[in-house]
Amino acid sequence: MPRPPIPLTVEDHRRDSAGMRYVYPVLSRRAGGVSIGINLNPNNACNWRCIYCQVPDLRRGGPPPVELGRLEAELSGLLEALSDAGESPDFSVPPGTRIVDVAFSGNGEPLAAAEFPEAVEAVDRLLAARGLGGLTRRLITNGSLVGRKSARRGLAVLAAGTGEVWFKLDAGTEAGYLRINGTRTTPATVLRRLGACAALCPTWVQTCVFALDGRPPPEAELAAYLELLARAAPSLAGVHLYGIARPPMQAEAPRLTRLPEAWLAALGARIGALGLRVTVNP
Ligand code: SF4
Repeated sequence: MPRPPIPLTVEDHRRDSAGMRYVYPVLSRRAGGVSIGINLNPNNACNWRCIYCQVPDLRRGGPPPVELGRLEAELSGLLEALSDAGESPDFSVPPGTRIVDVAFSGNGEPLAAAEFPEAVEAVDRLLAARGLGGLTRRLITNGSLVGRKSARRGLAVLAAGTGEVWFKLDAGTEAGYLRINGTRTTPATVLRRLGACAALCPTWVQTCVFALDGRPPPEAELAAYLELLARAAPSLAGVHLYGIARPPMQAEAPRLTRLPEAWLAALGARIGALGLRVTVNP
């Protein structure tokens, strides 16, 4: 028996809420409409393991080959449903809801998909066909794979239109990357990747902050993070600073708690003092 349409709500950010493999609509109160998500990692595999990650059953690895025809068919169907009546066999949204943006934001690292450039091209084609070519297209990435040829090509396609990157930066030391992101890398490598990304496409840093075992990030870690940001600042569009809005899905979840709004505001002010635009979402 077909399931009844699921009403999309601002609370329901499940990737499968519309019953599709690659495309998921999210009703965003903050953005005032539907954000269309593109998940190129349907197998919940990422090359990182962030302790605050919200992906259920996350495992290490990369995505299987992307079925571009299926991605196009899903996005085309969703755009049609949204432009017609706000209804599809799988979901419903309040009438008159507008589409605000498209985000490559998956259950893993989007740039791990070799088909990333073709996926961006397909999205651009479908948006343009519906007169939506001016929508912001956004890549949410951990930045670790920007050196790949396919990633660089995809970033160039993204930049050719109204594209932007949100590049994850949660720490400024090797120990910090290992503790928070489960990855072995150095500040110099991260800085190089950030610069390479920003040279190809407008790039925001996105930083997630939280208390671990009741304690905020140590001052030495914050100082290293700010020093890295200061060096990258001239090439950046700004910084999005945010807390853990939805429950983490990893084993460390019970050790993580939200930091006070004032704590985030104070860090935001230190980032702003570097001459960077900063948004704060506790
Ligand atoms: S990079 Fe993103 S998807 Fe990968 S583990 Fe971190 S939060 Fe999860």
